[in-house]
Amino acid sequence: MKKILITGAAGFLGSHLCDRFIKEGFHVIGMDNLITGDLKNIEHLFPLEHFEFYHHDVSKFVNVPGELNYILHFASPASPIDYLKIPIETLKVGSLGTLNLLGVAKEKKARILVASTSEVYGDPLVHPQNEEYYGNVSPTGPRGVYDEAKRFMESITMAYHRYHDVDTRIVRIFNTYGPRMRLNDGRVVPAFMGQALRGEDLTVFGDGSQTRSFCYIDDQVEGIYRLLMSDYTDPINIGNPHETTILEFAQEIIQLTGTHQKIVYKPLPKDDPLQRQPDITKAKEILGWEPKVGRAEGLKKVFEYFKSLTPEELHDKEH
Ligand code: NAD
Ligand code: UDP
Repeated sequence: MKKILITGAAGFLGSHLCDRFIKEGFHVIGMDNLITGDLKNIEHLFPLEHFEFYHHDVSKFVNVPGELNYILHFASPASPIDYLKIPIETLKVGSLGTLNLLGVAKEKKARILVASTSEVYGDPLVHPQNEEYYGNVSPTGPRGVYDEAKRFMESITMAYHRYHDVDTRIVRIFNTYGPRMRLNDGRVVPAFMGQALRGEDLTVFGDGSQTRSFCYIDDQVEGIYRLLMSDYTDPINIGNPHETTILEFAQEIIQLTGTHQKIVYKPLPKDDPLQRQPDITKAKEILGWEPKVGRAEGLKKVFEYFKSLTPEELHDKEH
């Protein structure tokens, strides 16, 4: 039985990856310090014989007993409000955390896949973004703590690959949504859904002309799975190229949820990228992957999830 370590296991993406690898017949070791995650996302796995959980901060030395075949490094705050609140932890987990896990991969001769992001392209001057684009990131701006940590993550991962022959993979994840996102993590999907369900107005930042391209979680997990099982070692974009402006997106959510609330405008956060759309030519050609779930279908599923939360969860602003 193959053994896989998944960091960030109690988070949104990490918990879905745990589910997928359990389903594929792996022994899964989840690791998380719960700084932005929630054990509720993985509690259904606790009774399973082939699931273990370590409560641990991966920015500190990581020790995993026994053999290990694969590592997925997904631990990191991922929403702008999270990484602005905990900037040093964000820098540490992208840098020291990645260093620690590459060390584990080297020692165990395990294949490691690290979770990079479309944020490495910053506020992009090339559209759509392909993997050859170097990006437009402000190292000292507020988002720099996340973007530069991820850029460092990619550099050190390639260095371990080139100089220590570690078997590495790098996925550049574009905006992904689905069940288990934290309602109040500030990202636009839970933000708009939460506002609609609580009967609050939807807050569009700026004039709403900035664009994003949203990928449903099942498609993202499939792309990550295929990349891990491939022999491709350069960074690769995984995302859904169907682009929308945030204003159109707010209108779509109003229609879907049937809320009678209106749209209100708030200032655009500094360095908020004005456009984002993945070029997925490589993922199609190399992994034979492309997204299957359209936005209308995906949003319906995630709305069902948010509707199933208790009134306490829905109104808990801290979580
Ligand atoms: P999330 O906040 O739901 O999950 C992150 C998890 O990592 C949380 O459970 C948190 O407690 C854990 N964590 C953070 N620092 C840690 C540390 N030092 N030690 C151990 N655990 C730690 O976020 P997510 O959306 O699931 O993102 C997961 C990964 O995917 C992140 O690396 C993020 O950068 C990347 N990513 C996500 C998206 C997206 O759209 N969801 C886009 C690009 C990249
Ligand atoms: N956004 C918004 N209202 C909100 C939350 C976010 O208009 O309540 C905007 C935000 O400014 C950005 C887009 O939605 O332009 C996506 O934001 P998110 O935080 O989800 O992802 P990221 O900016 O990291 O792509």
